[in-house]
Amino acid sequence: MAEKRWIAETLFDDLGFRMSYRVDRVLYETRTEHQHLVLFEHPFFGTMLMLDGATQITKRDEFIYHEMMSHVTLFAHGSARDVLIVGGGDCGIAEEVLKHRTVERLTQVEIDATVIEFAKEHFPEFAATVFADKRFESVIEDGMKYVARTERRFDVIIIDSTDPQGPGKVLFSQKFYAACKRCMSKGGVLVTQNGVPFFQPRELLSSVSKFRRVFADGSCFVAAIPTYIGGHMAMGWATDDRRLRRTSVTTLAARYRKAGSFSTRYWTPEVHAAAFALPRFIADVVARAKP
Ligand code: SAM
Repeated sequence: MAEKRWIAETLFDDLGFRMSYRVDRVLYETRTEHQHLVLFEHPFFGTMLMLDGATQITKRDEFIYHEMMSHVTLFAHGSARDVLIVGGGDCGIAEEVLKHRTVERLTQVEIDATVIEFAKEHFPEFAATVFADKRFESVIEDGMKYVARTERRFDVIIIDSTDPQGPGKVLFSQKFYAACKRCMSKGGVLVTQNGVPFFQPRELLSSVSKFRRVFADGSCFVAAIPTYIGGHMAMGWATDDRRLRRTSVTTLAARYRKAGSFSTRYWTPEVHAAAFALPRFIADVVARAKP
């Protein structure tokens, strides 16, 4: 019997380790206009997508990151109507955002049409509902170009990007965060995929420093995602409203009830509030961030 293939995540090669996944079946593998893409079936995690050697999404643990990036941001804001997602081509975050009835319009700006195509075919549980929702708009464009040119104003901007390499690099730049601030409504919130601080402390330090040059409040919240190796995943947080990340559990619970208490598997009002209580080594990174 042929030896099973193993696919390695090469994101941390410079740190001298790799996470490898035994492949049941490769569904698709190609180099798109923007990046190397491999989609495969794994015996435990189910369908997995890797871009440029970094795990993007698995069917088994996607709910954690998608729920936290969406519901922490929207319940903290409290009345977001116009939402922008940059990246997010797998549509996992869009699906969570559209659970909020207050959201009147959701625009997703993804650079790589191939990722959207595969989401429709291999992640229908997200993409089908999302593309059937008339509030949803899909734009294929570099997120940097979009936020630099748009006349729209967003209450919430969610950056569900790849890591700061290849097409994703510009989404960690000062000019990008400044352009996001320009197309935000008063009291708006920006949330970013910001790596795992145990292995990528400089990424978090750099982003929070840049946030603090254009926003009154720059910080992060955390969650543990099994296939984002390294313990806590940091989600960057930037807004001019310093109160939002201290929203009480009582207020969050009331907003959740008003939103119809839709089902979640990770997010709760208590988990939301606790996510901003940073372990000291991460709090130290955030504290070192100077505008
Ligand atoms: N949750 C994943 C993570 O934390 O690594 C990210 C998932 S999502 C698939 C990342 C998406 O960002 C990819 O589909 C990629 O094509 C998109 N992307 C990368 N750079 C981009 C850019 N400059 N503008 C818009 N989308 C971009």
